[in-house]
Amino acid sequence: MADTLFTNVRIFDGSGALPYTGEVLVRGNRIRGVARGARALPVAGATVVDAGGATLMPGMTEAHTHFAWNDQPTLGAIQRMPVEEHILWCAHVAERYLSRGFTSCVGAATAKPRLDVVIRNAIESGQIPGPRYLAASQEITVPGGLGDESPPHLPYPEFSFGAVVSGADEMRRCVRMFLKYGVDTIKLNLSGEYIAGLAAEATPMTDAEIATAVEEVRKRGKRLAAHARSSESVKQCVRHGIELVFHASFADEEALDMLEARKDRHFVAPGIAWLINTSYHASQWGITPDAARDMGYHRELEVAVETMKKMHRRGIRILPGGDYGFAWIEHGTNAKDLEYFVKYLGFTPMEALLSATKLGGQIMMREHELGQVKDGYLADLLLVDGDPLSDITILQQPSRLLAVMKDGVFHKEPEVVSARSRWSLTAA
Ligand SMILES: [Zn+2]
Repeated sequence: MADTLFTNVRIFDGSGALPYTGEVLVRGNRIRGVARGARALPVAGATVVDAGGATLMPGMTEAHTHFAWNDQPTLGAIQRMPVEEHILWCAHVAERYLSRGFTSCVGAATAKPRLDVVIRNAIESGQIPGPRYLAASQEITVPGGLGDESPPHLPYPEFSFGAVVSGADEMRRCVRMFLKYGVDTIKLNLSGEYIAGLAAEATPMTDAEIATAVEEVRKRGKRLAAHARSSESVKQCVRHGIELVFHASFADEEALDMLEARKDRHFVAPGIAWLINTSYHASQWGITPDAARDMGYHRELEVAVETMKKMHRRGIRILPGGDYGFAWIEHGTNAKDLEYFVKYLGFTPMEALLSATKLGGQIMMREHELGQVKDGYLADLLLVDGDPLSDITILQQPSRLLAVMKDGVFHKEPEVVSARSRWSLTAA
């Protein structure tokens, strides 16, 4: 593989520094030189990409991803997809994330037991293109909890996108099964969800059940994630050391104090796009704003926005992404979250970008080599037409993503049009 030298780029390096003009050399799958100014790095043996002042930045991380969700308007539609079609769908979606600039994704739960693991392995072995991926279990839930979709007279687990357990023994068996399948993350549903007809502020899983799951996960050195909208469920996350806290909308002051005290351990992915778009942009699929308000989403959105602002002020790590894969928030449009962070949650554009890049390296557990443009780091890079710091929405536009590189290889190559184009791509 030839080395790649990016010249004439505005480097957003993900350290928190302001962008600067310079050059970046990629050798193999790693960054082997970052320099300010022009003609600062050796050209010999490298394919030169003269980027004409475009922004070079780290690939983004999606912190709460469901490849198995299928851009349909209902939860039932996810489950009714047969497993053969479903795995093809997941492969299709994985490529979409990569092409839209997400070079890493944190699996947040899969809909059938092995979809996430199979896709992660296929990406890692080079069978299919996709982002770096951490594979999740199904959502483990209790009877009547979020994810238990079986009607009382048809008690078949296949109806449910969750794995339903009751009591510590069933929890232990279930968690061990997913660990056997090779997941990176065990997902627990600790609170309800309005669209499933369950109060977001309900907290149905017992501490004994959670403690059993945590015990098994720790034995294998893996992590846990939780659907946790209620304040009590956020407290359960902190008490039990569940690293990935999804939603956290109703976290009260006590829950925020607890999270802040352990902020080096926890990540919060609020999935704010779900609340915004389910509340106001799902009429076409039968959820009018009035219907969403009646379900409870308007109130949750209002509370969640205030909660996230408080969290942000306390320095709790909040990351973009979450629950894309519905008809009204399709997979691939996830960079909307960065705009929402700026517009609603009090982030500066710099903070929003850092949450998608630097913090992305942290949530992927690879902060020593992922999430920044830095000598020795993995070459997951985006070339962006324009400055995302002055207009964060350009990251939502596929045409503005001029190139996507993962692990030193272009997934989307910079276009070579002619000598008069902004590109000069010359293999040495
Ligand atoms: Zn989710």
